[in-house]
Amino acid sequence: MSEPITPSGRRRCAVFLAMHVAVFVALFLVEIELSAWIACAALFVGRMWGITAGYHRYFSHRTFKVSRPVQLALAWVAMSSSQRGVLWWAAHHRQHHRRADREGDPHSPVTDGFWRSHLYWVFEEKNYRTDLDRVGDLARFPELVWLDRHWWVPPASLALALGLLLGLDGVIVGFGLSTVLLWHATFLVNSVCHVLGRRRFETADASTNNWLVAALTLGEGWHNNHHHLPSSARMGVAWYELDPTWWSILAMEKLGLATDVRLTEPRSRRVDIRRDRSWIGWVLRLLGARRA
Ligand SMILES: [Zn+2]
Ligand SMILES: [Zn+2]
Repeated sequence: MSEPITPSGRRRCAVFLAMHVAVFVALFLVEIELSAWIACAALFVGRMWGITAGYHRYFSHRTFKVSRPVQLALAWVAMSSSQRGVLWWAAHHRQHHRRADREGDPHSPVTDGFWRSHLYWVFEEKNYRTDLDRVGDLARFPELVWLDRHWWVPPASLALALGLLLGLDGVIVGFGLSTVLLWHATFLVNSVCHVLGRRRFETADASTNNWLVAALTLGEGWHNNHHHLPSSARMGVAWYELDPTWWSILAMEKLGLATDVRLTEPRSRRVDIRRDRSWIGWVLRLLGARRA
C-alpha cells in the first residue's frame, strides 16, 4: 500500500517538478532552432525504444537474447531516458507483474489511486531501493551494476553532447523537453493502462489495451495483451494493434543482433470486454474520485 512521502522523497519530487518548470520557462526565454526540435523528436522516439525494447522487453522480461556488448548498448540507451538504473527499473517492473493491482504492486491505480500510480510511487522510500533478489540474472554483470549505481551518467552525457553540438536550445528542448515527455508517456502505461481502455483477455489484474498510449509508446499500450502474455516479445495481438517495438526486435533478429525471440500464443479464449469508455468516467478516475 502507499506510504507518506518522506523528506528525501519530497526533495526528489521537487527536483522532478522543477525540471518541468525549468523546461517550460526556458521555452519562452531561449530562441529555439529547428535542429533542437528535430533532436527532441528523434530522442523521444529513440529513447522510448530504449525503454520498450531494452528496459521492458529485454531486461524485465527477457523475451529475446543479445550479446553482452549489445546488452550494454541497450542499457545505455534506455538509461539515457533518466528513468533511473536498469536494475531498479527491471526489479520494480517484475514486482508489478508479480502483484499486479494487489497489495505489493509498486504502482497500481486500483489500490493506490491514479496519481500515485502515475507519478508519486517513484518518490516513495520503499520504491527507491532496488531489491537485487528480483534481478539476480542482471546483477551478475558488473557493467550493469556500475551503470545502475551511476544512473545519471548516460543522461548527463547526452545532455552534455547536445550542449556541445547544438547549444543551449539543444539541452533545453532536445534533452529537457523530450525527457519530460518521455517520463509521462512511460508513466501512462502504469496509470492509464490499468484504468482506461479495452480488455481482450480475462487477467487477474485490471490491465487494459489503450491505442493512444500504444501510439505514444511504440506498442506498449497493448498492456492487457502483455499481462496475459508477459513472456512474449510481441504485444500487439491483432493485425491493427500496431507494435513498432516488436518490428524492431524482428529487425534486430534479421541483423543477427537478437536471438531466441520468444513469441507466445494467447492461452485463454479471447474475451474482448468493453470497459467503461465514457469521458466522465475517465475524468473522475483522473481526479482520483473513482477507482477502476
Ligand atoms: Zn501493468
Ligand atoms: Zn511487463
